[in-house]
Amino acid sequence: MKVLAVYAHESPTSFNAAMKEVAISTFRELGYQVKLSDLYAMNFKAVADKNDFTRQSDSPMYKYQIEGMHALKNNTFSSDIFAEQEKIRWADFILFQFPIWWFSMPGILKGWFDRVFSMGFAYGGDVGIYNDGGLKGKKAMIAVTTGGPQPLYNPRGMNGDINKILYPIQHGILYFSGMDVLPPFIAWSVAHFNDKQRKDYLKKYKGRLLNLEIAEPIPFHPNSTYDENMQLKKGLKPEI
Ligand code: FAD
Repeated sequence: MKVLAVYAHESPTSFNAAMKEVAISTFRELGYQVKLSDLYAMNFKAVADKNDFTRQSDSPMYKYQIEGMHALKNNTFSSDIFAEQEKIRWADFILFQFPIWWFSMPGILKGWFDRVFSMGFAYGGDVGIYNDGGLKGKKAMIAVTTGGPQPLYNPRGMNGDINKILYPIQHGILYFSGMDVLPPFIAWSVAHFNDKQRKDYLKKYKGRLLNLEIAEPIPFHPNSTYDENMQLKKGLKPEI
């Protein structure tokens, strides 16, 4: 299997760094080929703007998504976007490693999605959306750490259901782009655990990664379950 690990943490002594290392060494043990996008180390530009294209449009009709479609067809993406899209084309499986920030992801990773998952490449234009998305046939998984403990993220906990918090990433980005999304690995409240508990997390994580190939994806509704108005067909239960 060809794996791309996209990693968004600044500190090499962080727990996220430890998880990233476990993932890479496990993949190598399994004989997988691995590429890494270490976004902080790459000083990855997070803001999507006109500088993402080598053709500078001064048209009053300039629109980021449309310029992205042009860039895809005419090879006018900046070299950093082009390189990331090449890694994605190469990969069968994409792992995202990051801490939960503001019920979401760090800005550097959000910017990676904004810029790299361009229209026509990941969704829309000449490709479809959801199970017809541009990255169809690939698998993805997120591995995250939290500050808050698990009970806070239960449906009745103060932070609300973690599945709802992760839905915009897992469904709104990864599944929207056509990928099968494996269940997330969540390391809860890592800063408040003791060393043994954290080491246990790393063992458990390794166990998950060893079984990636047999893991069942999250059963998001396929396009066929929606009617011509993109409404869920009668009798089916909404996902969240
Ligand atoms: P670290 O603090 O780097 O590490 C935790 C501990 O693990 C440290 O003691 C470290 O030494 C130790 N460690 C490192 N390597 C190993 C190893 N190999 N074995 C054992 N121990 C090891 N939290 C939420 O829950 N919800 C939010 O919405 C949220 N929003 C945030 C927004 C911002 C802007 C920020 C900065 C934080 C936010 N947080 C939030 C908290 C954040 O999610 C946690 O701080 C983060 O997930 C912790 O992960 P880390 O890798 O940074 O841990």
